Amino acid sequence: MTHNLSTVDVAIVGAGAAGLNAALVLGRARRSVAVIDSGAPRNRFAAHMNGFVSRDGAAPGDLLAIGRAEVVGYGAQFVDGFVASMTGDADHGFALVLADGGVVRARRVLVATGLTDVLPPLEGLATRWGRDVVHCPYCDGYEVRDQPIGVLASSPMDAHKALLLSQWSSDIVLFLHETALASIAADQQARLAKAGVVIQTGVVAGIVVEDFDMHGVFVGGALTGVRLANGLVNARSSLFISPRMMPQDALLRAAGAAIADTPVGSFVVADAMGATSVPGLYGAGNCVDPMAQVINAASQGAKAGAMINGDLVMADTA
Ligand SMILES: Cc1cc2nc3c(=O)[nH]c(=O)nc-3n(C[C@H](O)[C@H](O)[C@H](O)COP(=O)(O)OP(=O)(O)OC[C@H]3O[C@@H](n4cnc5c(N)ncnc54)[C@H](O)[C@@H]3O)c2cc1C
Repeated sequence: MTHNLSTVDVAIVGAGAAGLNAALVLGRARRSVAVIDSGAPRNRFAAHMNGFVSRDGAAPGDLLAIGRAEVVGYGAQFVDGFVASMTGDADHGFALVLADGGVVRARRVLVATGLTDVLPPLEGLATRWGRDVVHCPYCDGYEVRDQPIGVLASSPMDAHKALLLSQWSSDIVLFLHETALASIAADQQARLAKAGVVIQTGVVAGIVVEDFDMHGVFVGGALTGVRLANGLVNARSSLFISPRMMPQDALLRAAGAAIADTPVGSFVVADAMGATSVPGLYGAGNCVDPMAQVINAASQGAKAGAMINGDLVMADTA
């Protein structure tokens, strides 16, 4: 149950790519490290993780398992649990309180807790999330190349996503759903036309999922179309959406870390080395950067790990 560890140099909250790479750097810097993780990485819905050189196409869980094994080799301790709150500061140390009542004490804290994707409330979407309902052209575009792709507009910004996807397929339909055509700039509409992207007006009601894919092959569940509120079905084999990205940054916000508005919501500000506005408190990966793919999150964790080690060296030699 509880995990009342003696004070470690660094507590890392979150064992995704960001947290694990920070733990690796800190372990190699001979720091005592505790990594606390609640076991719900953002890409757990996907079978493959693409675009990470040397790991392209790997199962997301495999990357994390390999990372954990490497980090354990340098003496880091893993704690299964959810950090519910945190008190303290860089001068006196931090205390992280877990949901099960355990406490982890640390001189420095890296929050690498990722984000939650809030899906549009349309029938069937959640059942196909991470499979043929996806969000990221660079993660999944290649897998659906040359196929009939749909893009569900959540805002005028999704016109850009449809435009990008024309690099992967010449059969793209942008479903405006509740976005007004007039809200898409005229020059953007001209680009969509030039790229051959079809704009479909009308509210979307949901997706069509069938046991046979659109080529008649039995797959036991595949997206075959997008259903409009007027009943018409547009045959598509994948749908790109833009979920609302909710950073899991409660620990950072409660500590008073500065936040900034971005086009996709408000995020805690972490500098290029992961430092927040609160001394001793760092952030890396999707909890501070919604655009970070796995390799970016890992890189941010690596940089934050180095920065935290330097921070501690300076504190101990002041
Ligand atoms: C469907 C889908 C497919 C994707 N495909 C790709 C792809 O192919 N290639 C790619 O590069 N990227 C892909 N991504 C993006 C990828 O998921 C992120 O880039 C990556 O997960 C970010 O890593 P992270 O370490 O910041 O956060 P995460 O991987 O989300 O890890 C955060 C960890 O923190 C834990 N946690 C959260 N709060 C707490 C707490 N309070 N206490 C303890 N633990 C906590 C969580 O349980 C989780 O394990 C995909 C995303 C989705 C949704």
